[in-house]
Amino acid sequence: MLFSRALVTGGAGFLGSHLCDALVALGENVTVLDNLSSGKRQNIRDALKSKKIKFILGDCKNSRDVRKAVSEADVVYHFAANPEVRLSLADPATSFRENIYATHVLLEAIRKSDVNRIVFASTSTVYGDAKVVPTPEDYAPMEPISVYGASKLASEALITAYCQTYYKTAIVLRLANIVGPRSEHGVISDFVKKLKANSRRLEILGDGHQKKSYLHVEDCISATLTASEITTQGEVLNVGSTDQLEVAGIAEIVTHEMGLDNVCF
Ligand code: NAD
Repeated sequence: MLFSRALVTGGAGFLGSHLCDALVALGENVTVLDNLSSGKRQNIRDALKSKKIKFILGDCKNSRDVRKAVSEADVVYHFAANPEVRLSLADPATSFRENIYATHVLLEAIRKSDVNRIVFASTSTVYGDAKVVPTPEDYAPMEPISVYGASKLASEALITAYCQTYYKTAIVLRLANIVGPRSEHGVISDFVKKLKANSRRLEILGDGHQKKSYLHVEDCISATLTASEITTQGEVLNVGSTDQLEVAGIAEIVTHEMGLDNVCF
C-alpha cells in the first residue's frame, strides 16, 4: 500500500531526488519542496518529465510555501536539511534554523492538514559515540557529538511529539552514510574533490581508523519505501549495514577507482 500524494521536502537533493525517481516510477503523485540551497533541479530532470510531479521552489522555514506544499499531500517525506556535520561546528545556528526550526514550521502546517504520516530522514549520528555497534534503536543515553546530530535528534523529538498529539504516524529513519550517484557530501565526494585538486596527496582527517557504516542509495530508497508502509502509530528504524569500513580503506578504494597511483596519504 503506497500513498497517492507525496510531498518530498529536499526533493532536489541527493537522497530526495532518488526518492522522487522511485515514487514517480511507482505512479505516485509527487510534490517537491526545495529551496535549491544545495540541491539541483538537474537531479530531478528525468522525474520532472512526468506529469505526476510538481516542483515548488520554496523554503521549509516559510509557512506560506510549506502550507501550499502540504495542502496536496497525504504523506510527507521530510528530507530537507543542512546535512553538513562540519558546518555545524563552525556555524551551529544554521543547523538550528535549517533543521530544527524548519521542521517545526513544517509540522505546524502538517498538523492543520490532511497529511496522515511523516517519514523523516534522521541520521545514525544521533547516537554519538555509541558503546554498542551495531547500535540498536533503543540504545541510551543518546548523546550526539555534533550540533548536526543534536539538531536531528531534536527534530525526531518534535516529529514524534506532534504525531502523538495530532494522531498522525511518524516514521523516523536513522540513516547510515549513504553513497551513490548525485552525492555531494561525505567522505567519498570529499576525497574525490581533494584528489581532483591534487592527485599526489590526500589529506585524511583523523587517524584514518575511524569506522563507519555505508549503504548504497538504492538500498536506502528501498528501505524508505518499505518503511513508509508501516501501519503502527510510529516507528524508529536504523537504515544501514552491519559491517563498517575504515576511512583509510575508503581512501584506497577511491584512489584505485580514479586510476591514481602513488598517492601519499
Ligand atoms: P542534500 O543536501 O543533497 O539534500 C538536502 C536538500 O534539501 C537539498 O536539495 C536542499 O536544497 C534542500 N533544502 C535544504 N534546506 C532547505 C529548506 N530550508 N527548505 C527547502 N529545501 C531545503 O542532502 P542529502 O544527502 O540528500 O540528505 C537528505 C536528508 O538525509 C537530510 O535530511 C540529511 O540530514 C539526511 N541524511 C543523509 C545522509 C547521507 O549520507 N546522505 C545520512 C544521514 C541522514
